[in-house]
Amino acid sequence: MKQNPGKIKLELYCKGIKIDDSCELAEDAQPIQRTRAGLGSGLEVILPAGLLANIPVTEEFVRDTPFLLVKRGGCYYILRNGETVCPVKLPRQPDWYRKKTPSGSLMSRVGVMQGTYLGVYPTKICSYWDDDPKRNCKFCSTGLNIGKYEQAEKSVEDVVETARAAKRESKITFVHFNAGYYGGDELLAVEPYVKAVKQETGLLVGVQVPPSKDLRQYDRLVASGVDHFSFCFELWNREKFAEVCPGKQDTLGQEVFYAAMKYTAGLMGVGKNSGEIIAGLEPLADTCRALNFITDVGCFPTVCVFRPLTGTDYEKTPSPKYEEMLKVFNHMYRVCRDKGIPTGIAPNVKVSIVVLPYEGRYFAEGWGLKDVWYSFKLALIRVVFRSYFRLKMLFKR
Ligand code: SF4
Repeated sequence: MKQNPGKIKLELYCKGIKIDDSCELAEDAQPIQRTRAGLGSGLEVILPAGLLANIPVTEEFVRDTPFLLVKRGGCYYILRNGETVCPVKLPRQPDWYRKKTPSGSLMSRVGVMQGTYLGVYPTKICSYWDDDPKRNCKFCSTGLNIGKYEQAEKSVEDVVETARAAKRESKITFVHFNAGYYGGDELLAVEPYVKAVKQETGLLVGVQVPPSKDLRQYDRLVASGVDHFSFCFELWNREKFAEVCPGKQDTLGQEVFYAAMKYTAGLMGVGKNSGEIIAGLEPLADTCRALNFITDVGCFPTVCVFRPLTGTDYEKTPSPKYEEMLKVFNHMYRVCRDKGIPTGIAPNVKVSIVVLPYEGRYFAEGWGLKDVWYSFKLALIRVVFRSYFRLKMLFKR
């Protein structure tokens, strides 16, 4: 039977995988490392059709998984209940992970590969983690990672050098900065990093920080080189939002996210920015409402499958049911297609920690004229944008 790599990726997110004794991950794989808010805390694999996935391995719910990773004859396979599902490749740790920046920081503690792009959490810990009592988002592990697994604060020079190395050796095209809440100064805090990376490398740059009430700051960041903003409002359901994200509820509220999404979509165009939500912590109908809203305002959706990370407030909360997540991703594909949202346009940006809309076709129910037209339009936009980007990079060696 033909396998559907999108559905395998989703099922692995929901159930995780055990590692058989035959595996030699220390030699063959990237280290399992907790970073940023925590979604990249698992094993990086390359599934059939080149889909990247970061699969939970260490969390408690993985005890009940039917999946097992085995090594046979020098190759890796995923088994489900003892039956082979598919072969997988394990991306090697990039050589630059072991290199040091001029100030002596290990580059792997400055930025990490999350799929084919570089992720950097450049500044100090999110202030919700410093509040007394703490007001951090209940699913988040940032406060457990920064300073322990990552450099506590990164200099602009260190980040630029790490981005240069990742561009040279891992052929990245995109650097993604994310940061927590700093009392309204988040965009200003990441601006020097954005400016320097853009100027020195020419790479595409994305920023994911809590939204600013001062919308003019977005104009400023776009002028500094931001190509993409993502807005993590996490949940549509108001009560759940207040319960799961107490800091965001007290200091911002959902409306500030919505206003920033509308503003930046108007400023930068349809499909440039994203609204990020977590599936598995609120009723499905609310998740679908969030997807409708995100695409109505001209953003593309990023849906994180809730992962109960060890050590977080929600470590005992069950991982979402695969069958329910299928419905969410089917809806995600449908709304993107019906509203003509451009997805997967940036060159060589494959993401391991979420199923992005460009992988939505794996969740289509059937394949009709609408799907063919949408797919044709996307292919055309990709060709134009990628040619333009490559041309620009020729002048930025
Ligand atoms: S805003 Fe929430 S998710 Fe983001 S770093 Fe702070 S606590 Fe974590």
